[in-house]
Amino acid sequence: MREENCIFCKIIAGEIPSRTIYEDDDFKVILDVNPAAKGHALILPKNHCKNLYEIDEQTLAKAAALAKKLASHMKEQLQCDGLNVLQNNGEVAGQTVFHFHMHLIPRYVGMKNNDLLNWTHEEFTDEEQDAICEKLQIK
Ligand code: 5GP
Ligand code: ZN
Repeated sequence: MREENCIFCKIIAGEIPSRTIYEDDDFKVILDVNPAAKGHALILPKNHCKNLYEIDEQTLAKAAALAKKLASHMKEQLQCDGLNVLQNNGEVAGQTVFHFHMHLIPRYVGMKNNDLLNWTHEEFTDEEQDAICEKLQIK
C-alpha cells in the first residue's frame, strides 16, 4: 500500500534515489539526507502508514527487532559511543514526513550535535503529577 505524493513511498518504490543500507520484504533502511550525525538512518516500513497510531503491531514489532539488529551493526561498523532511537508523531512532535519512520542516530563523544535532544524539564506540582499518573494508569 502506497500513498500518492508521499516522499518515502517514492523512495521505497525507487522513484527517488536514496542511500539504502538494508532492505527486506517489509522495510527499507536509508541514510537520512540531512543527518544529525554520521550514520543517521531511517527505518521505513514499506506499507504506508502515517504514524504510531496507525501502524499495525506486527510491523512495529518487526521494526523494533530491526532497530536492535542495526544498533549492533552500527556500533560495530561506526564505533559510535551511543545511539538514539527516535520516532516522531504529529507536527507538534517534529514529524515532517507523514509516513511512519524510526530514526537511528549514532552518537559520538565530542560530536557537534551533542545537545541534539537536550530539553529543559517542565515543573509540575506533586498534586499535578499524582493526577497525571492517575489519568495514565492502565488498570
Ligand atoms: P521527521 O522529522 O518526520 O521525524 O523526519 C523526517 C526525516 O526525513 C528528516 O530527518 C529528513 O532529513 C529526512 N528526509 C526528508 N526527505 C528525505 C529524502 O528525500 N531522502 C532522505 N534520505 N531523507 C529525507
Ligand atoms: Zn508513504
